[in-house]
Amino acid sequence: MMKEEDNTFDLLAPDKDEEDTHAPFDLRPKRFNEYIGQQQIVEMLKIAVEAAQKRGEVLDHVLFYGPPGLGKTTLAHIIANEMDVSVIHTSGPALEKGGDLLSILTHLERGNVLFIDEIHRLPKVVEEFLYPAMEDFAVDIIFDKGMNARSYRSKLEQFTLVGATTRAGLLSAPLRERFGIFGSLDFYSEHDIEKVIVRSAAILNISIDEEGAREIARRSRGTPRIANRLLRRIRDYAEVRADGIITEKVADRALALEGIDALGLTPLDIRFLNVIIQVYKGGPVGLEAIAATLQEEPDTLVDMVEPFLLKAGILARTSSGRKATELAFKHLNIAPHSKGAQQMELPKL
Ligand code: ADP
Repeated sequence: MMKEEDNTFDLLAPDKDEEDTHAPFDLRPKRFNEYIGQQQIVEMLKIAVEAAQKRGEVLDHVLFYGPPGLGKTTLAHIIANEMDVSVIHTSGPALEKGGDLLSILTHLERGNVLFIDEIHRLPKVVEEFLYPAMEDFAVDIIFDKGMNARSYRSKLEQFTLVGATTRAGLLSAPLRERFGIFGSLDFYSEHDIEKVIVRSAAILNISIDEEGAREIARRSRGTPRIANRLLRRIRDYAEVRADGIITEKVADRALALEGIDALGLTPLDIRFLNVIIQVYKGGPVGLEAIAATLQEEPDTLVDMVEPFLLKAGILARTSSGRKATELAFKHLNIAPHSKGAQQMELPKL
């Protein structure tokens, strides 16, 4: 129902990113010098990569954390390219049993990058295999059970684990401590997002003027994945409803059709804020209550909705729950001290 009209999932869902990586229009930067923004992390990684190469060593394990769509996977692949090694790509939920990870680990070649996306969702039994693998490049294989249990340590080739997570806080301390390099990715500035859009438009052969690129940048929530998706949608609009060139006006009309507002908020963001303001009088309200009212998973809201609202100063997280800030009331054109739910229309669900 309503969910289908929401495009937050479409905008951020990684599985639909395939179109992004299909030749000949592969938008993913391959090298550090193509990667836009996040200068501090890129500089730190460049130094680590160069130092490891100089010493002929394998790069230390790396953990990237930050909201979806900011370039964590891209950086893992860039590291592998720069180190001139292969990357093996998996994810926390895909590794259900210790054996799943074991078969990957035992097939690694020296220096390979093992990329584990959503590493916070690794089952505990699988995670425990990782500790000796990361620390000693070895795995402990246990034969038999109970009294007869014997363990056998098998050596692995040295490798680099690159983990990505939207929630560093959910990682267990023993896992976190085994990483040597940490990169916290933050939302991009409008200026950097504009550069992402101009770069992607050139690769995809899209005509766009400066104001058009700026308008999309303003409404991409500081996220390259969203910028690329909006660019493709607006190209369609420009080709069918205009003369093929993305100008500010064309971008604005196309984004309105997509339900993206002036700040880049999606229908789900707006419903989220409306629930806090209209049902819970602006908050504070617990996340579970908001999720239940919206009929969404709390995890979805924490990963995909809240980070940008917090960053934009529209939402505040307090010890007693989520609160809509003054900016939220202003943005939604609601008087901050109106008397609450009874007098207001409930949000459409
Ligand atoms: P994450 O792993 O953090 O969810 P990805 O690495 O999959 O994000 O990035 C999403 C898309 O955004 C990529 O396919 C890539 O095209 C684009 N992208 C990400 N970071 C950058 C960047 N710094 N410069 C240019 N494009 C980028």
